[in-house]
Amino acid sequence: MDSQVRTLLDKTLGGTRLSAESALYLWRHADFKDLGNAAHEVRNRVNPPGEVTYTAFRVVNYTNYCNVECSFCSFMDEVGSGKGYTLDAAAVLAKVEEAIRLDAPQLFLQGGVNPHLPMRYYTDTLAAVREKFPQVHIRAFSPVEVLFMETLTQKSLKEVFAELKTAGMHSFPGAGAEILTDRMRDILSPKKASTAEWLRAMRTAEESGLKGSTNIVWGSEESDEEIIAHLAHLRALQDQTGGVLSFVPWTFQAQTKGFKLRKVPPHEYLKMVALARLFFDNIPHIEVSIMVAGKQLGELALYFGADDINSPVIEENVLRSFGLKSTEESRQFIAEAGFTPVRRSFSYLRGQASDMG
Ligand code: SF4
Repeated sequence: MDSQVRTLLDKTLGGTRLSAESALYLWRHADFKDLGNAAHEVRNRVNPPGEVTYTAFRVVNYTNYCNVECSFCSFMDEVGSGKGYTLDAAAVLAKVEEAIRLDAPQLFLQGGVNPHLPMRYYTDTLAAVREKFPQVHIRAFSPVEVLFMETLTQKSLKEVFAELKTAGMHSFPGAGAEILTDRMRDILSPKKASTAEWLRAMRTAEESGLKGSTNIVWGSEESDEEIIAHLAHLRALQDQTGGVLSFVPWTFQAQTKGFKLRKVPPHEYLKMVALARLFFDNIPHIEVSIMVAGKQLGELALYFGADDINSPVIEENVLRSFGLKSTEESRQFIAEAGFTPVRRSFSYLRGQASDMG
């Protein structure tokens, strides 16, 4: 092993925080297996060894009209195309009811940025779900959607979050981060929130008591430095707020023609999982997405620092076919990987299907 890699891993295992420069060195020079061994050791200190958690929830994409036009997105329909949809509260309620029947009493409500929707659409939809299904945890929206609401209402972001919370929202996902550098955001989604705006939305949500998740999506034109800069932004956010419960690595999937996709090889995926476990000394959980990684790589990731598989997801428009389809399948997957499966809620309450009782 490279002596500098050895020194850095020893220091990290001894409790020294990895600097961004050291993380870049490990990303470039460490063997993925060495990183994995160190990450597994840390994972066993941070989370119960021998156990892997999973959860179950339903994704409801309330509209696919979007005026943001990310270069990789095949989900959105241009506003005015006439081909898109917007779900009314009754349609959302029907999907939640079905999710409860399928033993997934948690809702992940997310959509495009549809400029024709008034603020009342969001609050009424949340309130309808909360009223009819108070046992359901509602995780909703993303930085780009709430920044749109801020512009729409001309209220402060803090007030927007207060309204959403009052209406029924329980937590807020760190979606749409992709790579948090302005160069990459200009390439991927020039109309989407800048790095500073994305972080402002996350900070405000977490200061409003809305906890959530973070991720990275890589496998395009990003540089090594940009990957590490992204991780450093998330760690600094967590230092400020303490509201980030988990980090999940995603890779770009082939969705649109012309998008510069770099296929991330399996060893690089595992390296990301391991580096995240070592770098995020302040984020409790590292999740592996079986939808993205697939079962074989997903199983290996559980030995590279990940302690959670997230799935099953009911109705994920793009990637569902690669995922685990039921809680039984999730439990079986975890057991076959050599761990004891433990159900958890969105807030990581162990043994609970939802935080709402
Ligand atoms: S903001 Fe979301 S829905 Fe809109 S184009 Fe980008 S990825 Fe697609």
